[in-house]
Amino acid sequence: EVPPPPPNLSPLLAAFRSLLELSLSLPPASPPRGADLLLAASLSRRSLFPPSLALLLPLAGSPPLYSRGLATLASHLFAAGEEGAAREALAELGRAGAGCRELGGERPDWAGLVKAAARHAARARSAGALQKGGFAPKTCNPVLSVLDAYASHPRFADPLLAEQVATALVRRVVFLTGAVSAATLPAPDRPEAAFVGRSNVGKSSLVNMLCGRRALAYTSKTPGKTQQFNYFAVNDKEGRGREIRYGDEVGGERDRDSFYIVDLPGFGFAKVPAAVKRSWGELMDEYFKTRRNLRVVFHLVDGRHGCVSEDARIMRQCADAFRGSKVEYVVVLTKADKNGSKGVDSEVAKGVREVMKECGVGGRPLLITSSTTKLGRDEMWRFLKTCCEY
Ligand code: GDP
Repeated sequence: EVPPPPPNLSPLLAAFRSLLELSLSLPPASPPRGADLLLAASLSRRSLFPPSLALLLPLAGSPPLYSRGLATLASHLFAAGEEGAAREALAELGRAGAGCRELGGERPDWAGLVKAAARHAARARSAGALQKGGFAPKTCNPVLSVLDAYASHPRFADPLLAEQVATALVRRVVFLTGAVSAATLPAPDRPEAAFVGRSNVGKSSLVNMLCGRRALAYTSKTPGKTQQFNYFAVNDKEGRGREIRYGDEVGGERDRDSFYIVDLPGFGFAKVPAAVKRSWGELMDEYFKTRRNLRVVFHLVDGRHGCVSEDARIMRQCADAFRGSKVEYVVVLTKADKNGSKGVDSEVAKGVREVMKECGVGGRPLLITSSTTKLGRDEMWRFLKTCCEY
């Protein structure tokens, strides 16, 4: 229920409404848009949020137009530094998404909205608000709230959006260290996301796609480095003069949205003596069960072939390790583009589902991805997001 606008604002709001409708009929790039200017002016005070939302309500009969208006509203609220109101507008934008399914045509300027949210986050960060807890506790980067709203809308391929999301969420990422035992893991001082899967499954491509990098310094390919937990530090410290190098101490001060990405090379897949496989399996087990900053495990399976026996072993191990824990366990089918337009073969997907069920992870999510087309990137970020809650 949105309260009616205060009477003294009615003329302004009426003018605004007609300008908004006019503005929505113009292509996004045509400057200057009268409604935008008026909106920016009228929103610079938070108290104007409910009436400006009320203004948009007449558009609710046309969900695409309504969504576009809400997205514009949210962008301006971010620009005005009104994060709370912007999040409310985003929540409404998410609710409006379902209505957009059958209707084509107008769509929100998602890339612009991500940009506005990212700018706001950057301003807040440089103002020291992040460190001082300026955002409400347990909220996430505003860019992730935009992705939440986006999730309910029809998807479309937009490379610009993909680029913007990665740039906004991953400011820097560096290889930190290769840990060889539980004792040599970095301090658990920030959340971490683990990627497990056999070599060649597409792990480094996927991590690069998520981080918007063409090629991270990826050492897991170096012979001899396959038996280690490869740690990448994401968004370590704002204003750090140089990037972290191998062997550097990382700890103490850091940004609140910094986290680790860990590559667990599926050593069990390699052609090595059974005893070596066993000890690697034990190390993984200890890691899964005791790493208290672990938030999400992505288990990568080749989308062309489905599971091999080592995948089933890892699934059982994870079913056991994460029973009753809060760690998210997600199976990710890779290289969906290799099967042409139909994505992952439905028989392969069905087979993987069956193995998951047999191994006790039947209720866990299964995502379909491609590093080439960026398919599944938003879904993966929705899980990675648990790593960057402030
Ligand atoms: P890793 O050993 O698991 O890190 O695997 P890589 O990321 O190096 O990928 C192995 C091979 O598969 C490389 O030749 C990649 O170019 C290719 N590849 C990885 N992901 C995809 C994908 O999504 N689509 C396609 N077509 N090829 C991929």
